[in-house]
Amino acid sequence: MKVLVINSGSSSIKYQLINMEDESVLALGLVERIGIEGSRLEQELANGEEFEIKKDIPDHSIGMELVINTLTDEDKGVIGDINEIVAVGHRVVHGGEYFDKSVIIDNDVKKKIEECAKLAPLHNPANLMGIEVCERLISNAKQVATFDSAFHQSMPQEVYTYALPYEFYEKYRVRRYGFHGTSHQFVAQEVAKKLDKDIKDLKIITCHLGNGASITAVDGGESLDTSMGLTPLEGLVMGTRCGDIDPAIVPFIMEKEDLSPEEMDYLMNNKSGFLGISGVSSDSRDIEDAAADGNERAQLAIDMFAYRVKKYIGAYTAAMNGIDALVFTAGIGENAIGLREDICNSLDFLGIKVDVQRNDVRGKFTQISPDESRVKVFVVPTNEELVIARDTKDLIG
Ligand code: AMP
Repeated sequence: MKVLVINSGSSSIKYQLINMEDESVLALGLVERIGIEGSRLEQELANGEEFEIKKDIPDHSIGMELVINTLTDEDKGVIGDINEIVAVGHRVVHGGEYFDKSVIIDNDVKKKIEECAKLAPLHNPANLMGIEVCERLISNAKQVATFDSAFHQSMPQEVYTYALPYEFYEKYRVRRYGFHGTSHQFVAQEVAKKLDKDIKDLKIITCHLGNGASITAVDGGESLDTSMGLTPLEGLVMGTRCGDIDPAIVPFIMEKEDLSPEEMDYLMNNKSGFLGISGVSSDSRDIEDAAADGNERAQLAIDMFAYRVKKYIGAYTAAMNGIDALVFTAGIGENAIGLREDICNSLDFLGIKVDVQRNDVRGKFTQISPDESRVKVFVVPTNEELVIARDTKDLIG
């Protein structure tokens, strides 16, 4: 049984074709720069073979056609016929309060995804576009939606409610939702398996540290609290997002700089974080290089990032009244060796220890704490596509 996993963005389509018999990835690829100059598709096969097709891709429909043609191509393809794809699993960012798990897509589901676009205007419309294109082009396959926010629907009311007049929750559903849920859930489950313990008996803090970054307190297998909020802007310092700031800063800067709400939103989402602090780049590798060359603001960006991660770990340990395991995942979490060491070393009072040799690892499932460490610390490569494919398989039976 073959499942196609789609992550449709505003100008890109990421995809993986997964054989669910053994969960092997047959092909993975990316269509990017849809609707802009320089559009292209790149695909990698299980044997490591990579290739690229450069051509005009004016919209998602043409992009998806290209994906299908590439997957079924006589020479480079991995399937003989499109009907071999039994189901398509779609990543959808915001499911609001409607979805606490993956669902088979029908008209009602699509209507709700569209409604949630008010809360995720950059993501949900692009996700929906991917769904509709696949419904047309891969019409024999069942379509399933997996939501980034679903895992966090277990948060209790006192955690998800903001201390604003309650009417804004009632009128607009303004509350904490949280994101990266598929990733937090996956890495927490992997760690429970590795420890050979029932996840119900574990208190785990999962740090998804990538260009977008969030931390979750996973208590007994459920999300108790998470650092992102109504939108993916709240919480940690990120590549271009500011994370937590005093809300009074927003009207202050808008007034001083004569900014509209849209311009202020753009500034906080696209011009802040690593990029805004350092003035160098949004990419942590560039920031590390600049800091090594003596750039003080790049060093400040790193220090601020590490400090806030540490602060959330402390807060979530308190929220759960304990911690059994700490997990690092995503681009920075899986690769930034020095950062992991610094964060863990400054949390030794909690019983968190790191083994320097074990920590010398990138992108590999590894316990990086010494055996005697009371809190077990892991690097776990995330695999959101696999979660989507598994959910899709389970739902269609
Ligand atoms: P993601 O959003 O999960 O793709 O993560 C992107 C972030 O991970 C960027 O800030 C990258 O600089 C960082 N990253 C990716 N690979 C590495 C690496 N080998 N070493 C350090 N950081 C990395």
